[in-house]
Amino acid sequence: MHNIDLHCHSTFSDGALTPVQLVERAARRGVDALALTDHDETGGLPEARAAAAAAGIVLIDGVEISVSWNGHTLHVVGVHVDPANAALAAGLAQIRLGRAQRAERIAAELESVGIGGSLEGARACAANPDLVGRAHFARYLVARGCARDVKAAFNRYLAQGKPGYVAHQWTTLERAVSWINGSSGIAVLAHPGRYRLSDAGVDDLLGEFSDLGGAAVEVVTGGHTPAQYALFAGKARRFGLAASVGSDFHAPAESCDLGRLPALPPGCVPVWRDWNTGTAS
Ligand code: AMP
Ligand code: MN
Ligand code: MN
Ligand code: MN
Repeated sequence: MHNIDLHCHSTFSDGALTPVQLVERAARRGVDALALTDHDETGGLPEARAAAAAAGIVLIDGVEISVSWNGHTLHVVGVHVDPANAALAAGLAQIRLGRAQRAERIAAELESVGIGGSLEGARACAANPDLVGRAHFARYLVARGCARDVKAAFNRYLAQGKPGYVAHQWTTLERAVSWINGSSGIAVLAHPGRYRLSDAGVDDLLGEFSDLGGAAVEVVTGGHTPAQYALFAGKARRFGLAASVGSDFHAPAESCDLGRLPALPPGCVPVWRDWNTGTAS
C-alpha cells in the first residue's frame, strides 16, 4: 500500500515548514512519495530532495503555477518538472515579479482602510523575499490583531471583494501547461472544486485544459469534500484525464495534513500509474 501526496507547500512559498521539516513530517506520517509544489517557485526542491534521500522517501519535483483564465484565478500543478528548464524558470521568474508588484498594491489597499505598514509586515512573515503572497499578509494581519486567524483574515480583508483584494493578471493556462510539458513534466489542474465556476464552466475548463495538453485533475485534495471526490472522478473519466491526490498542506494548524487523504474513487486512472518512482503499483 503506498501513500502518495502530490501537492504541498514549504517556506519557499506560503507554507510554514522548511523543505526539510516538510519532508521529515511527510516521512513520519507514512508518505512514500511527495511532490513539493510551491507557488510559482522551485527553489525549495534541492533541500527537499536531500532530505527525502535521508528519510528514505521519494521526492518529486513540482510547482504550482498561478493562472488567469476567463476572469478566474486557477492553479496548475506541474509534477516531474525539470526546474532547470529555461522556459519554465523564466516564466516563473516573471510571475514572481508580478507578485511583488501585486504585494505593493495590496498594501496600498490595506493602507486605505487604516492598516499601514503591511508590506513590511508581510515581507517579515515571508522567508522567501521573492514570494510574498496573500497568506503572508494574512499572517501579518493575525499577528497585528486585525483577525483571529488566517481564515478570518482572508474572509475580512484578502478574499475577492474584500478591502485588501486586488485583481491580478497571472499567466495564461496555455503558457502554464506548455512550460510544464516543455520541461518534461505533467500538468495537473489543482483543486477544481475551489473555483467559482458553474458546472458548464468546469466542463469548458476541463475541455480546454485537456486540449492544451493538460494530463490530470486533482480529485482527492484537502480543498474538496467527499462529494467533490466523486464529482471530479467522473469528470476526469469523461474528459480522458488522469486523477491526482494532494493534501495542499501549508501548515500544521492551517490545513489538511500530509499523508492522511483517502484513496482515489474506483474507476480513476492514477496520474502516477506509469511512473517509475518505486512506489507505483
Ligand atoms: P496568492 O497566490 O498569493 O493569491 O495566495 C493564494 C493562497 O492563499 C492559497 O494557496 C492559500 O494558501 C491561501 N488562501 C486562499 N484563500 C484562502 C482562505 N479563504 N483561507 C485561508 N487561506 C487561503
Ligand atoms: Mn498557498
Ligand atoms: Mn492552489
Ligand atoms: Mn497549493
